[in-house]
Amino acid sequence: MKENAFEALTVETLPDRLGNIPEIADRLGGAPAAWKVREVGDGNLNLVFIVEGEAQTLIIKQALPYVRLVGDSWPLPLKRSFFEYHALTRQEQRAPGTVPAVYYFDETQALIAMEFLSPHIILRRALIEGQELPKIGRDLGLFMARTLFRGSDLSMKAADRKADLALFADNVDLCDITESLVFTDPYFEAPMNRHTPGLDTLVKELRSDRDLKVAAQRMKHLFASRAETMVHGDLHSGSVMVTKDDTRVIDPEFAFYGPMAFDVGMLLANYWMAYFSQRGHEEKGSRASMRAYLLGVISETWTTFRDEFAHLWRTERSGMFYQASLFEEQNDALGSEQALNHVIHDLWTDMLGFAGIEMHRRILGLAHNADFEDIADEKLRASCEAPALKFGRHIVVNRNTIQSLAELDRLAEALD
Ligand code: ADP
Ligand code: MG
Ligand code: MG
Ligand code: MG
Repeated sequence: MKENAFEALTVETLPDRLGNIPEIADRLGGAPAAWKVREVGDGNLNLVFIVEGEAQTLIIKQALPYVRLVGDSWPLPLKRSFFEYHALTRQEQRAPGTVPAVYYFDETQALIAMEFLSPHIILRRALIEGQELPKIGRDLGLFMARTLFRGSDLSMKAADRKADLALFADNVDLCDITESLVFTDPYFEAPMNRHTPGLDTLVKELRSDRDLKVAAQRMKHLFASRAETMVHGDLHSGSVMVTKDDTRVIDPEFAFYGPMAFDVGMLLANYWMAYFSQRGHEEKGSRASMRAYLLGVISETWTTFRDEFAHLWRTERSGMFYQASLFEEQNDALGSEQALNHVIHDLWTDMLGFAGIEMHRRILGLAHNADFEDIADEKLRASCEAPALKFGRHIVVNRNTIQSLAELDRLAEALD
């Protein structure tokens, strides 16, 4: 297939087109004509097929030359599949067992064959249903610390890190989506924005909030210029698949070298939004326990991330700065701990900034999330979204003076 020009797969053509690729056909087993194929893509961008063979079931993900959600009026390079493939292989190296196994990649067809996660469901769905999953805080805290630390100059050889940076530097169009849709559009009346009608007054207030706009642009400045580590780039609760016992991260097509705190902020923002949406999902009973669970997950995610980051700092710091030759090897472990505290302090502050902006863009921008969208009653939905917007504004603008998650728990409870 490599020699052919790109052609989008369909349920009908898939067996014929992939039937002679051993990495795919041998795993699936049986005659290609007997494979059961379903298209299940629920994301905004790509095609996702579940292909069931005699022996195994696989996922085939294929990019399209445009944004699936919008159509061919919004072209988007196929190369995002290349970035997704390379990000998946790096994440597997840096945090083994946290992403689906990759079996095959075809750059021309923008196609990845990977492990079918089953009976996993999308984390966002689980949180909307009120499932209290026991492992996500720890698993995702570890995932972030390991991928973000090990993809940075704290760990990698300078030449390797720079080669990687160059490889991902071409992911221009997906970065541009984030730069526009996340950091800019929510803060003015951009054409693709929408929001729940009851929010008009608050939205107007936020869009004329000078401190907020300045802070948002400072965060955008950081996002676009601090090429610190390979970030996932789209780490929301729709990019995580879960069971009670297993947590996997999918869909890293937005990967690039950016600031460490970006993934952490986006993920925590999605938990805070899940928190503020709970009141809209109480038809079948109180969500008080779910709300407490979510605040616990936020705290566990952050502390796991921080502690694992500190552990890697003490045990794997082999990169070009804060070298042991300046500290531990001169009997100055205290110096290295002091430097670590500075780094963690910056991560905390930046995390809050990115989190607040992610909350705004999901309520004011183009891409909304089901936590709120599934609340059919517009008045109820607006009454959940408004506190989330206020909370987001608070953590962006006050990110330099917020001391603890306990302080934010109290704010969330007071606003909700
Ligand atoms: P997009 O880039 O379009 O958002 P995703 O990678 O998020 O695509 O996949 C869309 C959906 O396909 C997911 O929400 C999930 O339901 C399903 N999916 C994707 N990858 C897998 C996988 N490895 N195993 C099982 N389901 C998957
Ligand atoms: Mg997705
Ligand atoms: Mg998506
Ligand atoms: Mg995606």
